[in-house]
Formats: sequence, C-alpha cells, structure tokens
Amino acid sequence: MSILEAAPVQPIASADDDEIARLHAAFAAQRAAFAADRDPSLAKRHERLGALIGMMLANRERIAAAMAADFGAHPAPASDLIETLGVVGRAQYVMEHLEAWMRPDPRDMDAALFGTATAHVQYQPKGVIGNIVPWNFPFDLSVGPMVEMLAAGNRGIVKPSEYTPACADLLAEMIAATFDPDLVTVAVGGLDLARAFSSVAWDHLLYTGSPNVGRQVMQAAAANLTPVTLELGGKCPAILTPGSVTTANVESVIGTKIIKNGQMCVSVDYALVPRAELETFVDEAKAFMARAAPDYSHGDECTGMISTRHLDRVETMLHEARDRQSRIVTLQDDDEVDRTTRRMPISLVVDPASDLRLMQEEIFGPILPVVPYDDLDAAIGRINAGERPLGLYVFGDDPAVTNGVLVATTSGGAAVNACAVQSALPSMGFGGSGMSGMGRHHGIEGFREFSNQRGVVVRGQGDHIDAFYAPYAKAAGLVQAVLGGAAAESGSEH
Ligand code: NAD
Repeated sequence: MSILEAAPVQPIASADDDEIARLHAAFAAQRAAFAADRDPSLAKRHERLGALIGMMLANRERIAAAMAADFGAHPAPASDLIETLGVVGRAQYVMEHLEAWMRPDPRDMDAALFGTATAHVQYQPKGVIGNIVPWNFPFDLSVGPMVEMLAAGNRGIVKPSEYTPACADLLAEMIAATFDPDLVTVAVGGLDLARAFSSVAWDHLLYTGSPNVGRQVMQAAAANLTPVTLELGGKCPAILTPGSVTTANVESVIGTKIIKNGQMCVSVDYALVPRAELETFVDEAKAFMARAAPDYSHGDECTGMISTRHLDRVETMLHEARDRQSRIVTLQDDDEVDRTTRRMPISLVVDPASDLRLMQEEIFGPILPVVPYDDLDAAIGRINAGERPLGLYVFGDDPAVTNGVLVATTSGGAAVNACAVQSALPSMGFGGSGMSGMGRHHGIEGFREFSNQRGVVVRGQGDHIDAFYAPYAKAAGLVQAVLGGAAAESGSEH
C-alpha cells in the first residue's frame, strides 16, 4: 500500500469557502425579495437609478484613486470620463426613456381569426441577475450594466475581477452604503468564487471577459439553463481605405490605442493600410504621439498594465516580433518599460509575419501591427478569415466604399471614420457576434436583454379560436377559406 493510499483523503478547503457561502445567502435573499416585489413601479426604479447616480458622483475621486492603485498608473480624467461620468450619463439617459420602454408594446392580431382580441409584449423583470466583471473597466462594466438591470426591475450581484482589489473593495463599500443587499450587492473573492458564481441558478448571467473563460461560464450556466449575455474580446481591425491615411484618421487609430494603453476590448488590435500609404501611416503616427504625448510612457497619459504577468505577456509578443526581424517603430524616443508602474511605450509592428503571436491573439496592450494590403477585397477577406470582431473601424470619404466594407463583414459593432465610439453610447446596444460574444447591454437593447419579453394575448369577442379544438369541421372550413383567399392574392389557380 502506498503512502498516498494510506493517508486519509481530506477535502482541501477552498480559500473562498466563506465568500461562496455568503454568495449563496445573498442570492437567496435577493430571490426572496424579488418574490415579494416582482414588478417595481416606475417611481421606485427612478429612485434606484437616482441613488446610483448619487453614489457614482460622491465617489468620483475615490474611483480615480482606486483605478490608479490597481493599474499602477491611470489618468484621473480618463477615470472620471469613462468610469464615473459614463455611468452617470447612461443612468440619466435611461431615466428619461424608461417610462416609454416599460409600456406594453402592442402587436397586431388577425381580426378575421381572433375578433377583437389584443396582443402585447410585457417587459417583465427577469429576477436576480449575476454580473461577472473583468479588470479593465471595473466600474463601467459593473455599475454600468446595473443601470439597465435595475431599470428593467431586477436585482443583482456583481463579481469584480481578482486583478482589481482596490476597485473591488471600493465598489463593495459604495454599493453597501447605497443599496439594500437584497437589491444589489458585491461578491469579492478569488477564482473559486468566480467558478461558483457562474454555477448559481441566476435568472440571467452577464459575463464580460475573454472568450476562453466565456466558454466555461456558458457551460456552467447551461446546467441551470440560465440565459447568458457574453461580452467577449477578439481582434478589432481598423481598415483605412485607399486615400484615407490622413492626420485625423491616424489620430483616431493611435488615440484610441492610448486609451488604457490598449487594454480595451474595443481598442484597435491591428490596422490594415494600403501598401502605397504605409510610410504615411507610420509618419502620421509618430507625429501624433510627438504632439499628444512625446514622453508617453513616463507621463500622466499612460495607463499601467494591470499586472506584471500581463506586462510580461505583451513584452514577450514584442520580443518575438523583434527576434523575427520585424520592423518595430516605437512611438517615443526611448523604449524603456517602467516595471514599477508597469507603463510601456506604444510600438508599431510594420508588416508583421502572420504567424507571430501578436497576429494570432488579441493583443490587449500597446502594440499595433500595421498590415499593408494591395486591394480592398483582400483586406476584407483577411478579416473574414478570422473570428468575428467585437468592433470594426473603416475609414474613408466615399460612403459607397465604407458601406461596402460594412456590408461585406460582420462584427458586434462598427464605426466609420472613428474607433470604439459605438461601445460608449447610452442609446445603443453594445455587444459581440460569434466569438466576440452574444447579447447586448446599453440602451433599449440592454433594457430588453434584462427583461422577460412576455407575449400576452387578451381574448375579445367574435373570434374563431375554437376552430383549433376538435371536432375539426370548423377548422376544415376555415382552411378552405384561407387557401382560397391566398390563391386569389397570389393570382394562382387553386
Ligand atoms: P479577467 O481576468 O478579469 O476575467 C474576467 C472575469 O472572469 C473576472 O471577474 C474573473 O474572476 C472571472 N473568471 C475567471 N475565470 C473564471 C471561471 N473559470 N469561471 C467564471 N469566472 C471566471 O479578465 P480577462 O478575461 O483577462 O479580460 C480581458 C478580456 O475581456 C479581453 O478578451 C477583452 O477583450 C474582454 N473584454 C470584453 C469586453 C466587452 O464588453 N465585450 C469588455 C472588456 C473586456
């Protein structure tokens, strides 16, 4: 008998056991509260959204400080704009439109068959919704979707990323000070908690993160047939159509890459540029950085990589490109990486080999492959050969050309002569397609995503519903009448 067989097998306690127990208790409390109040009034929903706005504004400076703590360095105005004011604006927009969104939505009924009956869609709260949040936008992706969840009358539990402990603690404190835990609460913990979270029998589960983990989340949700919204990532291309490599357009591409130093799901992952305009692109990129942030990675404009592991990953991609003799253009005078704040410069990799890791994986950092193309159809073919991106950006002055690119490709969202803006509108649903995700939040699409869209019929007078019941003599007569009418309409002899 081996020593292993002889030893009593003790289950290893998960580091998250207490958090998991608290999660299940919080879920049960929210479920009970939902059962007691299944359809909160418009006034109550407004009150909740108003409290959410007050919470964000009151904590604006603490949010910026927590972001800087977790990222090593993070520009405060970017935190204000995206994490605080973006969420506030989203809630204000929803409050303006909620009354109209909540109204029963009437649908047509055939009076010849159904008489005076009426039909409508009732947007009913789903119940208790879970939200698994990534590290890159810790407030925008936790409190942001909570706007449409609360607007739709739901309750919810948020699970922040283990990579953003300062933001997670602040979020938990802010939410606890603003909402009863049976309405909104936060579950903080490690990977065991994350796995347990996706196994809860939610009425809906929102996951934002990588496609690989998204697959595991969907599998866990399938055990309960929990509906999921998956907001995933991928390689978002910018296509500069011939003649569009201008100062303004290159500024859009590189300026977007600067946001979070590339750690953004809708960042430009690579740029497709007409071969004849490749050097213009490189020169314009250098000129933009010289104007906007000459000392970029040493200054206040630069966000740190979220962890040393993430920094190492991006640096390894760059080293591989260098080892393979790729042309690397660093968009500042030095290429020093500050390992304390994890800030690194932006680099272009010009005309990279397609088997490099940076052409195979989502980069999620400050490297921009600039890929030349000889004709636009080939560039489109290259995009369509990969997975469907979350965002696609096309530049050009001729709407026939830019629309042609939109028609020939599929992505979650798109922007013409801009990058990433489609993801930030309170008025428009945001989400992916295929490997970049499914479902939408933001706007009326988000409200409906988090609603049970219940179809309701109210029977009236003078219908023929009994034709569906036996005996079928009445049904046979109706069938003849309908067929006769259809034949007359189509002009065919019956
Ligand atoms: P991450 O490491 O923070 O993980 C996301 C969340 O998943 C975290 O809360 C984590 O705890 C949890 N998690 C990890 N393993 C899990 C498991 N097995 N089961 C359940 N939950 C688990 O973030 P990430 O995945 O590195 O995020 C980066 C990715 O997210 C990129 O691909 C990016 O494009 C994507 N992203 C997409 C959007 C969008 O809106 N579509 C927004 C931001 C980021």
